[in-house]
Amino acid sequence: MYDVAVIGAGAAGMMAAAVAGQRGLKVVLLDHAERLAEKIRISGGGRCNFTNKGTTAANFISQNPHFCRSALAGYTANDFIQLVNQYGIGWHEKHRGQLFCNDSSESIIAMLRSECDKGRVAWRMPCAVHEVGQQASCFVLRTDAGTIRAHNLVVATGGLAIPKLGATDFALKLARQFGLKVVEPRPALVPLLFDAQQWQPFSTLSGVALEARVSTSSPVLGKPTAKPLLTQFDEDLLFTHKGLSGPAILQISSYWNPGQPIVLDLAPDANIERTLQETRQGNRQLLSSVLASIWPKRLAEQWLKNTPDLPKQIGDMRLADAPNAVLSSLARHIHEWSLVPSGTAGYRKAEVMRGGVDTRYLDQRSMEAKPVAGLYFVGEAVDVTGWLGGYNFQWAWSSAVACARAIKAKEFQ
Ligand SMILES: Cc1cc2nc3c(=O)[nH]c(=O)nc-3n(C[C@H](O)[C@H](O)[C@H](O)COP(=O)(O)OP(=O)(O)OC[C@H]3O[C@@H](n4cnc5c(N)ncnc54)[C@H](O)[C@@H]3O)c2cc1C
Repeated sequence: MYDVAVIGAGAAGMMAAAVAGQRGLKVVLLDHAERLAEKIRISGGGRCNFTNKGTTAANFISQNPHFCRSALAGYTANDFIQLVNQYGIGWHEKHRGQLFCNDSSESIIAMLRSECDKGRVAWRMPCAVHEVGQQASCFVLRTDAGTIRAHNLVVATGGLAIPKLGATDFALKLARQFGLKVVEPRPALVPLLFDAQQWQPFSTLSGVALEARVSTSSPVLGKPTAKPLLTQFDEDLLFTHKGLSGPAILQISSYWNPGQPIVLDLAPDANIERTLQETRQGNRQLLSSVLASIWPKRLAEQWLKNTPDLPKQIGDMRLADAPNAVLSSLARHIHEWSLVPSGTAGYRKAEVMRGGVDTRYLDQRSMEAKPVAGLYFVGEAVDVTGWLGGYNFQWAWSSAVACARAIKAKEFQ
């Protein structure tokens, strides 16, 4: 009999198990994977973007945008940085508050493992959980390692992104089994795809990258009648064979809904119409060459040739000869290139799952299921999805600590 069984030994599960164990609770941690914490290992290109210094509730998407506040305040980015520092793990800030390991994400895995050891956490791994039931006041888990009984159950099995790394819908199924609702899951932080015919002229641009501003209007979550919300990100954009990727697209994909357009500003720091007008007099440069001075050459040529609603031969026009109406239209298209993606690259390529266990059914201070005492959901399984940039790990740490601090041993329940 354990005080706590934690299912899922990823970021949130190891953190929850370690903190609960260090509080003196008897903890068992189970995971069905062969290798420990694969997502931490591959995260941040192998260097784990383990938090973001600027984390606030505004960096998360949820039907209840306030739900994450309490947990984020209870265990902050600074708290995690302190832990990393205690282990002497070198780190650096890359971009907009994003903190990465200097060497390898393995050091974060080793740190969490060692924190679990300090809490005398018992491991069952690899070990599949086949059934979860309740008997009297405890949870009964039927597993590959036999029957495990625990007074509290923490579900930390993450989301559906990257099934080949062991992602499952375990948390969503278990939530439904215990009467909790689930916000429809879907891939997020994911490349966007376009209709093959529509994209064919741009597919040759695969590999081209540039800074862009990308925006989309989306319904306010949980308030379908409210005025749609405009969301925008200034980040790098990457052309791929089948569509668009890069940080700008991954960020906006979390807000994009099927059928909606995304709008790209391909020169966010410029006023193209004014620049063209100011440099126009006597300028015999081709428009494709003019654009090649701000964009990669390949993009300037292909984009001018293939953007609908622009004159077919616009790239071969000389700036001095281009009529005002053409320059205005060109500038408008550069600043407001509107495209309707046909879909996303799916969970195979997504970094996270949006949606998950409906936060209305969870206590925001403890992550405990309101209808089921002793049952907790933490990490990505919950309907709290972070932006790209270390926010998802911070949510994993914060939600796990909130839960682990709240769990009580049986005699105190
Ligand atoms: C390629 C990639 C790069 C990323 N980079 C970053 C980054 O740099 N920074 C950042 O903040 N976020 C990043 N993320 C997101 C981040 O990895 C996740 O949000 C985070 O790992 C979620 O933590 P979690 O503990 O909730 O779930 P996970 O870390 O996914 O852990 C879930 C665990 O549960 C186990 N499990 C699943 N189903 C079962 C089951 N049925 N039975 C038993 N065990 C089960 C899994 O094996 C896994 O070990 C990245 C994601 C990907 C895919």
